[in-house]
Amino acid sequence: MLKPKKNIILVISFLLITGFLVTALASFFVSRTSLRKEIALNELPLTSDNIYSEIQRDLLRPIFISSVMAQDTFLRDWVVEGETQPDKITRYLKEIQKKYHTLTSFFVSEKTHTYYQAKGILKTVKPDEKRDAWYFRVREMTPMYEINIDPDMANKDKMTIFVNYKVFDYSGHFIGATGVGLEIKTVRQLIENYQQRYKRQIFFINKQGDVTLAGSALSGMTSNIREMEGMANFAEKILTTENESFIFERRGDTIHLNSRFIPEFDWHLLVEQSEKPALENIHQALFLNLAICTIITAIVLLITHLTISNYQVKLEKLAITDNLTGIFNRHGFDILFDQTMKEAPRKKAPFSIILFDIDHFKKINDDFGHTIGDNVLKHIVQTTWENIRAEDIFCRWGGDEFLILLKGCRIDGAHMLAEKIRLAVKKAPFLMTGGKIELSLSLGATEFIADETEISLFKRADQLLYLAKQNGRDRSEK
Ligand code: GH3
Ligand code: MG
Repeated sequence: MLKPKKNIILVISFLLITGFLVTALASFFVSRTSLRKEIALNELPLTSDNIYSEIQRDLLRPIFISSVMAQDTFLRDWVVEGETQPDKITRYLKEIQKKYHTLTSFFVSEKTHTYYQAKGILKTVKPDEKRDAWYFRVREMTPMYEINIDPDMANKDKMTIFVNYKVFDYSGHFIGATGVGLEIKTVRQLIENYQQRYKRQIFFINKQGDVTLAGSALSGMTSNIREMEGMANFAEKILTTENESFIFERRGDTIHLNSRFIPEFDWHLLVEQSEKPALENIHQALFLNLAICTIITAIVLLITHLTISNYQVKLEKLAITDNLTGIFNRHGFDILFDQTMKEAPRKKAPFSIILFDIDHFKKINDDFGHTIGDNVLKHIVQTTWENIRAEDIFCRWGGDEFLILLKGCRIDGAHMLAEKIRLAVKKAPFLMTGGKIELSLSLGATEFIADETEISLFKRADQLLYLAKQNGRDRSEK
């Protein structure tokens, strides 16, 4: 009986656990895939768009100012007319700086190589001077302007973002470079703000892959994406595409990257997002799911265990008891009788049996119905119980026949008891509304003879019962 129960519990556990696990894991992987899609297709490109438009607003202004300066007729007239009265250009530059709140404003003349700025003449640029290299580069370049980050000599070498715009005279000859400079700290602050607002890592790289601008977290201004962990593998692809999404691993974290080329700067804007924070919710949901599943599995298993145990006890009881009277049935009796038979020769313990049958029971059924018949059977059992000992084994032999096994009892004791029962039944008619049914029993009592078989014992009891019937019923034979 134990094994099937164990098997059922194992099968149920297996089904529940695999069912729950598959559901929880499937929903986890589906959520993760859709999260990744969402980051790559929507979140990052949208952030990149937003940052791009904010950067356009914040950083394109100096480009615009520089372009206005390069087109300014006063500036060009003053240069073409021979750069006399430097205070005029100085005042002009000072006004620009004041009006647009830039860190610096400048003009470098091609003819004299003089570097003018708001406070006056700063220096003369020289081709062999490293700090002046920018000018000779601008002079040779094809685009109209460039964005360059350099220390500003006029402002205690503060790191500055310069917009260097080419200036031409009216017949298209290059006459110098003008523009403004913004303190890098303000631009960095800008990036920092974006980073905090969007919870992403934001930085710029130039065509060579060098980080040109970044918030404080990415401190290495000198670092190059070719040397960055995870990113190095597709650095070339980043630099050669205009707008692309990437995914890579860095220190056990999955990173999503969006790269977008910004033509005005000739730079790429890179926006990075770690999957971790977003994944945390999904992980939490998974753990919660698993915890709930474990609890439900435990509860279901407990209920199953209790139900099966309960049914098992009931079934076991059912298998050995008589449904109607609640005493042992033939099967239950056999188990106990086998044991008695085994013990008998060893212990030399005598035992007897009484087999009895209700007289004319068929008539009771016929006269009063089957239900009353059933109640009469119960009544007989009740009366018998009241006259035997708790250790006597009482069983319904079938129909209206009963058997009592009396351990340690010899024939005389058994016969006395048979008589006692007979009289008790006689004295206790079955009472019902509107009358009573007089009852009597015929009984046969016999003792087990050493070494005899079960068959011969019961045969003898049967014969004695038959004899009692023959001799007129309501009597016992031994
Ligand atoms: P006898 O004195 O010779 O024993 O006559 P009898 O009428 O009692 O005859 P017998 O013992 O052969 O009849 C037993 C009857 O008991 C027949 C059967 O229909 C009835 N019976 C058997 N089991 C049940 C039961 O569970 N409930 C009821 N109501 N009747 C039963
Ligand atoms: Mg009978």
